[in-house]
Amino acid sequence: MMTPGQQPPTTPYGSVPSVDAVVARRANIERRIAAVTDRSVRIVGVTKGFGPEIVEVAVAAGITEIGENYAQELQSKHEAIRRVGSSGQGAVRVHFIGQLQSNKVRSLVGRVDRFDSVDRESLVLEIARRAPGAHILIQVNATGEPHKGGCAPSDLAPLVSRARTEGLIVEGLMAVGPTHGGPDAAGPVFARVRALADDLGLEECSMGMSEDLEVAVAHGATEVRIGTALWGARPIRPG
Ligand SMILES: *Cc1c(COP(=O)(O)O)cnc(C)c1O
Repeated sequence: MMTPGQQPPTTPYGSVPSVDAVVARRANIERRIAAVTDRSVRIVGVTKGFGPEIVEVAVAAGITEIGENYAQELQSKHEAIRRVGSSGQGAVRVHFIGQLQSNKVRSLVGRVDRFDSVDRESLVLEIARRAPGAHILIQVNATGEPHKGGCAPSDLAPLVSRARTEGLIVEGLMAVGPTHGGPDAAGPVFARVRALADDLGLEECSMGMSEDLEVAVAHGATEVRIGTALWGARPIRPG
């Protein structure tokens, strides 16, 4: 296992941050959260662009919730996640947060603890078929930007109800803030997502990333998804 002070290897994906660096950045994120709320807010470490080595570094630094965007990257990290889980360092919880194709669901079963980016009925049906009783978040596009994932706010209630009918456990909502406009634009969007979740009796709100986590937390995020502010700049993806 990685220990504090140990330098991680350079990999084909580029260099991996040291455990010490991630510990320090995690403390900084926790300070940023504590500056806006007394609630405890979960930090999901988003590892896209990194190879399997990031898993050990994350867990050694106390990050046990891992967010994955790509089925193929999760494939490459699966062994590391399994190894860490059986080493007594504590189980890793994997969140799938990327845009999800129905035909990828099958390859994710058993490797994902929660599907966070469910945004349409076909996906609900496929997850219910392949992973009965799975825990999910429904992703909502609360900014109206056409290229963002997520269902329209008006489709939310029927989708939640369909997922429940199919036996899935809907824990809450996931959303991505607006691409432009900074905190002024993000605040109302996150407030709207929180209100939609409350209307549906949903507890969890996964919103806020490295740049806008304070705004999201101030408006009721229960978990934030953090990449850059935790690991440093993402390596160039191979390929
Ligand atoms: C990459 C990504 C994040 C993390 O982004 P950072 O700005 O690096 O913190 C969070 N959520 C989703 C959906 C992402 O794709």
